[in-house]
Amino acid sequence: MRRRAILEALLACALIGRAAPARASSARVLVIGAGMAGLSAARQLADEGFKVTVLEARDRIGGRIHTDRTFGSAVDLGAAWIHGTEGNPIADLARRARARTVATDWEAFALYKGGAEVGDRATAAGERLAERWLTAASAAAERGDSLGELLAAEIARTGAKADPATLAVAQWMVTGAIELEYGEDRDALAAIAYDAEEAFEGDDVLFPGGYDALPRLLAEGLEVRLGAAVERVVHDESGVRVYGGFGEMAAEVAVLAMPLGVLQAGRIEITPGLPDGHRRTLAQLGMGVLEKVVMRFDEAFWPEGLHGLGALDSLIPVEHYPLDVHGAGPLLVALVGGDAARALAKKDEASAVRAVLAPLAQAMGRELPAPKQVVRSRWTDDPWAMGSYSVVRPGGDPEDREVLAKPVGPRLWLAGEHTVVDHPATVHGAWLSGQRVAMKVLATLRSQ
Ligand SMILES: Cc1cc2nc3c(=O)[nH]c(=O)nc-3n(C[C@H](O)[C@H](O)[C@H](O)COP(=O)(O)OP(=O)(O)OC[C@H]3O[C@@H](n4cnc5c(N)ncnc54)[C@H](O)[C@@H]3O)c2cc1C
Repeated sequence: MRRRAILEALLACALIGRAAPARASSARVLVIGAGMAGLSAARQLADEGFKVTVLEARDRIGGRIHTDRTFGSAVDLGAAWIHGTEGNPIADLARRARARTVATDWEAFALYKGGAEVGDRATAAGERLAERWLTAASAAAERGDSLGELLAAEIARTGAKADPATLAVAQWMVTGAIELEYGEDRDALAAIAYDAEEAFEGDDVLFPGGYDALPRLLAEGLEVRLGAAVERVVHDESGVRVYGGFGEMAAEVAVLAMPLGVLQAGRIEITPGLPDGHRRTLAQLGMGVLEKVVMRFDEAFWPEGLHGLGALDSLIPVEHYPLDVHGAGPLLVALVGGDAARALAKKDEASAVRAVLAPLAQAMGRELPAPKQVVRSRWTDDPWAMGSYSVVRPGGDPEDREVLAKPVGPRLWLAGEHTVVDHPATVHGAWLSGQRVAMKVLATLRSQ
């Protein structure tokens, strides 16, 4: 797989830092958005001696990292895992924050169908079949194809030959790899973007104490103004002015580190507008949706030691993750992706709980207890996210995201998970985009 320029850019950044030591400067940088991208850029620039102000619309930092503590223990309603710890800058950050992490054991997943646990042989055969379908669909992909179209052809070609248990596992695995991974239905995804991301090796780890330790570490000592929603940005060769309910602020340079969904919805007016290349690329991307329903029970109804449960009787994209295994008590997190997540977001609490527990009850072949307390994520209609993370629509190309790293104007840049080719839709991608934009801002400020 191609290795993109971000890590090289980071190295270059470090070199620039050494070649031209920071001079005390009154240059003011505005960073709009206190998610991982914005905080990563702000931290770097503040450490270089520049005066940085972060403007954040919400009353908290972290953006799509959002740890809830309603149940007494930490539950992440947004990002939960560091995906692959080897060489992952977020794993370094977690060590610096002294945040405890625990690896998810993907082998400790119980799959149920028709009232019984699916056996190892059917699970392994289903996994192989799913892999064959996905590999074949990926290999056949050309620009313009939807992933759903190519997969349907593969499934029709070989699915009928598989026995029902293998077929059910394969269908479930594919749903996990697409609708739950990308938060989008397969028909709305570009086939060429499937698995085009770079992945770090190593464990996928969770934060029993909450992912929010990381944005907190980055924000230490930074000037962050909460409740400061930016509505208008005006930029030219001399600088940037931003406007909102807080009034007007001016800076020499600014970084727009808000999510793709917010940009696409036109919630911020940019004058002069985005260059054509930026606009074309943004139009080919979409916001996938992953919603979580966190349920607290009197006691766990699932076998001890499980890291995940899968219900194979239905094709609804839902997976269940017990948190008792990490010491959080009898909590179960249901993850729902794509259109099913959008539908879930419209339901009241009781219907949402029914929607995520019914497939599990059917697959386990028994009635399940009602949860004592429920907390839900609301990414679908969150005005400061407008979805969960970016995806490439059919017709688009993942490489086009590269355009979004180019300056919007001489003093204005974008940052965020949607702007990176190799690691979109992740915390590390967001952080890397912040480091990359910081390098560009440094180069601009130091050339003056
Ligand atoms: C349910 C869910 C599960 C996920 N799971 C994982 C996972 O397990 N592992 C992983 O690596 N990634 C995961 N992700 C993705 C990851 O959370 C994001 O890619 C990353 O956090 C995005 O960071 P960001 O800085 O680009 O954007 P954000 O975190 O969204 O930050 C943007 C900030 O801009 C603010 N903002 C928006 N508009 C304005 C405005 N007009 N003025 C001022 N401020 C504004 C927002 O409030 C927000 O704080 C998940 C995401 C979701 C939603």
